[in-house]
Amino acid sequence: MRTVNKTRLSLLQGDITRQATDAIVNAANSSLMGGGGVDGAIHRAGGPAILEECKQIVSRQGRLPPGEAVITTGGNLKARHVIHTVGPVWHGGHSGEPELLASAYRQSLRVAVANGLKSVSFPSISTGAFGYPVRLAAAIALETVIDFLHREESLEEVVFVLFDAATYQIYAQVLEALLPEKG
Ligand code: ADP
Repeated sequence: MRTVNKTRLSLLQGDITRQATDAIVNAANSSLMGGGGVDGAIHRAGGPAILEECKQIVSRQGRLPPGEAVITTGGNLKARHVIHTVGPVWHGGHSGEPELLASAYRQSLRVAVANGLKSVSFPSISTGAFGYPVRLAAAIALETVIDFLHREESLEEVVFVLFDAATYQIYAQVLEALLPEKG
């Protein structure tokens, strides 16, 4: 566990659908209609109320572009809210992927702050079906969150919930390089 300015920042290996933070972030796709990976797991665990709100959002504002974020109920989850964001699909790294991935994290945090939330859990956005190399994605994820927390002090806790051991290890290495834990 680190403290970044006013906020606790931690990594854990596990299933984000079991997190009790005020919100969990969903690595959604632009349709907001659910899918595989963490998206499917969140809709399965949270029940139909989440998809119902997603449909209303899409009927109001259309598909959600990569890099943007919206909030819905958490349905039956322990988390009261789900923040849905869309990361970039990896096309080799020269199609705006780093900027879009940073934006997905930043906009999710902005939505959390705008709704008065105090704690947020993130999965590793874009590193599953969307193919973003994990080490590159971890650097952007952690740098973007740390930079945000230096400028915005209202969040108490941000947690990265990494599903598999390999992804957890890479995030831990990247975080240690960015913010060495004091002995
Ligand atoms: P994307 O389409 O953005 O790549 P995926 O859901 O395919 O999203 O993968 C993103 C990451 O989420 C991957 O590291 C995957 O292992 C992880 N993941 C899958 N299920 C869960 C879960 N229940 N909790 C946390 N992370 C999960």
